[in-house]
Amino acid sequence: MFSHFSLHRLLVKAVRELKYRQPTPVQSEAIPLALEGLDLQVNSETGSGKTLAYLLPSLNRLLDRSNQGGGTRVLVLVPTRELAHQVFKVCQTLIKHTNLSAVLASGGDDFEQQAEQLEQSPAIVIATTGRLLEHINKATVDLEQLAVLVLDEADRMLDMGFSDDVHAITAVSNPDRQTLLFSATLNNKWLPSLAKKLLREPEVLTISGGRTEHAEIREQVVLADNDDHKQKQLLWLLAHEYFAKAIVFCNSRERAERLADAVMPRRRKVGILHGEIEQKKRSSVMASLLEGKINILITTDVSARGLDIEGVDLVINYDMPRRGDDYVHRIGRTGRGGKEGLAITLVKSTEWNLKASVERYLAHKFEPRIIEELKGSYTGPEKLRASGQAVGSKNKKDKKKALGKKFKKAKKRKPKKKVAASKPSPADSKD
Ligand code: ADP
Ligand code: MG
Repeated sequence: MFSHFSLHRLLVKAVRELKYRQPTPVQSEAIPLALEGLDLQVNSETGSGKTLAYLLPSLNRLLDRSNQGGGTRVLVLVPTRELAHQVFKVCQTLIKHTNLSAVLASGGDDFEQQAEQLEQSPAIVIATTGRLLEHINKATVDLEQLAVLVLDEADRMLDMGFSDDVHAITAVSNPDRQTLLFSATLNNKWLPSLAKKLLREPEVLTISGGRTEHAEIREQVVLADNDDHKQKQLLWLLAHEYFAKAIVFCNSRERAERLADAVMPRRRKVGILHGEIEQKKRSSVMASLLEGKINILITTDVSARGLDIEGVDLVINYDMPRRGDDYVHRIGRTGRGGKEGLAITLVKSTEWNLKASVERYLAHKFEPRIIEELKGSYTGPEKLRASGQAVGSKNKKDKKKALGKKFKKAKKRKPKKKVAASKPSPADSKD
């Protein structure tokens, strides 16, 4: 029961209205520690209820009489605009019985309007980093009284492209604040060194890591001959698979655009979302998906983090993600809050080794699936290494024949290309 935590009654009342029967494991473990004022580094799987796990104790600080003050006291930083809107909505629900005010400072939205709201010193700010920095530079926001800083999707926030912004924000924030880092993939080797600057003697909680199998998500792989074949498979799956809502992930904006061009004439209710689409369109696509006006979203990794969209029971990786972490977050758009979901990844020969490395990173194998009506010629590598990777490839063999000894020399010089399943990748979109 949420009433067992020492949370303010107005917060408990708001949670009761959400009709959650009991706290999730991450909420049970993180809330009491955060209420003690400790810095936290929390790893808990996708869809496990992390938003309330950080919002409730943070908001509680604002209601605790011994801890009141002026200015912005709670700041939540997130990597994408859509996630900022979502967290803001949850926050509004939680504070509805209080007199606390929250402001959303998300990229793409009206700057002046935000500036006016921020100048009122709201107790809570939910922001994307780029936009918040703009406000800091124009002195419309004051973080000197900050009591709690939350980095949701913290590994992403400390990734390339974001960490400089985060450090610029913390540089103007109250150094005596509490800092909370949350993600489903926070157990990377590179993370502690990055987090060191932000956290003071943190409690590290691992409830269930990104690498553990997500019990609610069934994971399948379909082999494909080429992109043309993938398109047919995708259309087949969208026509034959039962789903309420589906999200289709591509590895680039260009590929998402091309795929949408191919799918849209054949399916109604399809939307596209990526970092280069203008904000008005982004907002209307998200609203349509939430309302069910569209039920298929073609997108990039910009939608992989944090989004909690009711009814998403199918995720299709049109492209194999380049990192294990990206895979975890993409498929985590389904199987949320205890519901079941299906994740299907389309893999062509050039993606086999990537698939094998992601399986190794996750320490489990994907279920092979064959679409009988669209059976292709690619059935996987002829020979496998113990790692699951292909031993050579037809392509290489052909090259070898053609180049003879020269190839051997060239091969020796070439360093082995290793697939990094857990290292940061360039940002898809930085808001
Ligand atoms: P995460 O951030 O871990 O991916 P979210 O905070 O987005 O997860 O929550 C996932 C879903 O679970 C949301 O739809 C949320 O409303 C729901 N949820 C959160 N807490 C509870 C709870 N205690 N009981 C039931 N459902 C919950
Ligand atoms: Mg989340």
